[in-house]
Amino acid sequence: MPGGKDFYQALGVPENAGEDQIKRAYRRLAKELHPDRTRGDRAKERRFKEVSEAYEVLSDKEKRAKYDQFRKYGFSGGPGGGASFEEIIGRGAPGGGAGGVGGFGSIFEQFFGGAAGAGGRGPAGPAQGDDVRYVLTIPFELSLKGGKSRISAGRRLQCRECRGSGAAAGSRPRKCADCGGAGYMTVNQGFFATSAPCPRCRGEGEVIDKPCPECGGVGAKATVSKIEVTIPEGIATGQTIRLASQGDAGVRGGPPGDLLIEVRVQEKAGFQRRGLDVESSVEVPVETAILGGKVETAGVEGGVAVSIPAGVQPGTVLRLRGRGMSRGSQKGDHLVTVRVRIPRQLTAEQRALIEKFAGKA
Ligand SMILES: [Zn+2]
Ligand SMILES: [Zn+2]
Repeated sequence: MPGGKDFYQALGVPENAGEDQIKRAYRRLAKELHPDRTRGDRAKERRFKEVSEAYEVLSDKEKRAKYDQFRKYGFSGGPGGGASFEEIIGRGAPGGGAGGVGGFGSIFEQFFGGAAGAGGRGPAGPAQGDDVRYVLTIPFELSLKGGKSRISAGRRLQCRECRGSGAAAGSRPRKCADCGGAGYMTVNQGFFATSAPCPRCRGEGEVIDKPCPECGGVGAKATVSKIEVTIPEGIATGQTIRLASQGDAGVRGGPPGDLLIEVRVQEKAGFQRRGLDVESSVEVPVETAILGGKVETAGVEGGVAVSIPAGVQPGTVLRLRGRGMSRGSQKGDHLVTVRVRIPRQLTAEQRALIEKFAGKA
């Protein structure tokens, strides 16, 4: 077994781990390392990728069996050799050396110290565009009923001028002469053949002679566009709306990423949300607390009448069924905590009455 990490180590599970154990380990790590939480921490991003790759293989019975065999008996790749690692994993060729973007280059290279069997390499293939994140703050009222919100999202969209090819009008990307379009160079070192990304085309297999003037040869442009977002009713802070294929453009013909809109709901003064329930408090005069009655208080939508039972105690929570937030047929409740207003000053007459009530008259 070549040195470095392997998929079992990546997930921190033993070789004989069961499906459940693998799933649990993955969930825990994925949560901890999710890019939402580790924004910008490159080491953690790499680790997240490793963990995802490891799970992809170990969670699939067939892939795991092949991988186990491979792990035990080694890689029978090389020119004309048996299955390549890519075939085992069931993916296209790994993203070439250019910055190690995409693919499972990371673990692959840790296995072989960068000296992959020459048979397993190819030019960088299509890659999916990145997901784009956007934080959207909406008024409380919009979360209540749902509706539309317009956002200006910055994304990298395919360049219209060159349709993503990166080549100027009338020209096309050309096969790289140095590597013959393979994207890697093979160097024979005695018995072994090692390969490295082609420095000229940086693993792409193609070179652009006349870059598109619009995008500078990148094939994509940073663009800010207005997008209408449908806000579902009852949405709460922290929930994410996913707009499929509205993220960054794919690379080399790959599909676009998604646009992930993380919603924050502005608070409504005096209200707390607990899922679809809302909480607030109401102050009632002491005589209403004693005798019972009706008081009006603010609800999620306009005023609501609250029936105060006679003898209600301060701190009592009254439940107004179905008066909270709603989501489809689900309806939350409005929980009203009763506070009692005790008068600080009494007229002589009131004082006499209270004293009478207290039996001291
Ligand atoms: Zn262009
Ligand atoms: Zn090349």
